[in-house]
Amino acid sequence: MKIRSPIISVLGHVDHGKTTLLDYIRGSTVADREAGGITQHIGATEIPISTIKDICGNFISKLSIKDTIPGLFFIDTPGHAAFTSLRKRGGALADLAILIVDINEGFKPQTIEAINILKMYKTPFVVAANKIDKIFGWESHPGNSFTQSFQEQAPSVQQDLNQKLYELVGELHKLGFQSERFDRISSYASQISIIPVSASTGEGIIELNAMLLGLAQEYLTQQLEIHENAPAKGTVLEVKEETGLGMTIDTIIYDGVLRTNDEIVLMLKNEILTTNVRSILKPNPLEEMRDSKKRFQKVDEIVAAAGVKIAAPNLEDVVSGSPLRVINDEEDVKKEILKEIEDITIDTEENGVLVKADTLGSLEAVVNILNQEKIPIRSADIGDVNKKDVIKASISQKEDPDHGVIIAFNVDVHPKARRELEETSLKLFQGNVIYKLTEDHHDWLEERKSAVKKHLLDSLIKPAKIMILPKLIFRQSKPAICGIEVLNGTVKPGYILMDENGNKVGSIASMEDKGETLPSMSRGQQVAMAINDAIAGKDFEEGDSLYVDIPEKHFKVIERKFKDKLNDDELACLEEFVRIKRKDDFEWGKFGLFE
Ligand code: GDP
Repeated sequence: MKIRSPIISVLGHVDHGKTTLLDYIRGSTVADREAGGITQHIGATEIPISTIKDICGNFISKLSIKDTIPGLFFIDTPGHAAFTSLRKRGGALADLAILIVDINEGFKPQTIEAINILKMYKTPFVVAANKIDKIFGWESHPGNSFTQSFQEQAPSVQQDLNQKLYELVGELHKLGFQSERFDRISSYASQISIIPVSASTGEGIIELNAMLLGLAQEYLTQQLEIHENAPAKGTVLEVKEETGLGMTIDTIIYDGVLRTNDEIVLMLKNEILTTNVRSILKPNPLEEMRDSKKRFQKVDEIVAAAGVKIAAPNLEDVVSGSPLRVINDEEDVKKEILKEIEDITIDTEENGVLVKADTLGSLEAVVNILNQEKIPIRSADIGDVNKKDVIKASISQKEDPDHGVIIAFNVDVHPKARRELEETSLKLFQGNVIYKLTEDHHDWLEERKSAVKKHLLDSLIKPAKIMILPKLIFRQSKPAICGIEVLNGTVKPGYILMDENGNKVGSIASMEDKGETLPSMSRGQQVAMAINDAIAGKDFEEGDSLYVDIPEKHFKVIERKFKDKLNDDELACLEEFVRIKRKDDFEWGKFGLFE
């Protein structure tokens, strides 16, 4: 058993300093990279603990960091797209993350997106509150620790910084995280450390590295244990053609050992590929790269953690984010990868929405959020939206209008598919911020639901009561015509009326006021009403109260779904109505409100 370096990703809003921070961490702290022991991998950079200790000195000893962790392994490509595409079974490849926020700008959409993603993958993270050198009046001390630099600042500047930090604490709190400035943390398990830094001057980077080491040592050692002689496990970063090498894959190996000629399994769109490692390539050290113009150097084997390029036959259709496994007990490994493909693509139902995304990882992230919201998914796969997708979504829509939806993350829509889409009433959600996409979809669905609900409510026969006004019977029958007042609720033509004993009186033929026919009438209005099939003096008398006879089905829907939409008078009227109904039929309208 050996402990490998934790794999670290940098996330944050555009222009908040991800690239600058990585550049600083990777190089500028050490004048001579080779001497500093910094190792350049494919797609990643590893800084050994000895170097970090040299730089951090005192601060590390205060944190009582031991030598168990060999170093920090930074993924070169920052951003949440890289973070999600770098996946491994059941989570993210990165063990830790740095969330970078421009302290002067605070939280932005992609900051929130990054936090949501980190939350979803349960990845521990620290917050780098960047660009402290831009705080008004800040006196820069390049390369210093934050602690030293902070002491040199004027009290008003110190206050300003603390104020800005507390705004970040507030934002994090809104998203469900407790946080604190790193030097005031009381529990690393329950609080997120915020480290004020400047990626430009390097102030605070010492503490940032130390906190990462500390966090890894406290919480990750088990996760970082590797089996040095076990078959390698890794993740595909990118599939790339290289002159002289043909198709290659850039991979991060996070467990075991990879050797030339090893048989490996990889994931294609819907199946698995078995192939043999032709060569393993590492980047050449800078010096040699200049001399020989050769960018890569062949090695026979590498042990995790490592970023390497692999050349092998048939790599064309490997998907980024694919797992990589060296085969030992062949069937088991194949089964495991097949299961993994299933988990991603078959986690779908017969009916539901359509999801498209650019990488396996982002697809998984979108699917995850939709699953949490209990949105059924009909199909989820990688690639641009094409004509076939439009057809599939149309079929879904026929089965359920709510499912006439395509959610497209970070992909294009083919022009032909776009034209087809325009001819349908399908709804396309397209964008590159996952939580924005799913939020928009959520809002759309809610809006639809309330429209459907309103339509249903409008079509329901609701409680109402009228009174036959004295001395205003104009015609006896066929139809009977009399003056009435609406005592409660709303009445419309077609509604059946019943008397106080539950006997049917007739149906409302029409209502008229001053020569005008009315489509509906509400409480307090007096009009002339024509009632079909009723005979005045026999079916009803002057002064009688009549109720709208609510069909039992309507009653149940009102009672279960729309009780809150009735006012007190209507509720009272409903109660009277039910009492009348149950005189004859004890079970009427059960089981519900008035049991
Ligand atoms: P990214 O989009 O998150 O990768 O951001 P970059 O690293 O490209 O930084 C965006 C801009 O902010 C660049 O012009 C950087 O030079 C600048 N920048 C980044 N970090 C700092 C910092 O700590 N202080 C100052 N003053 N500028 C910074």
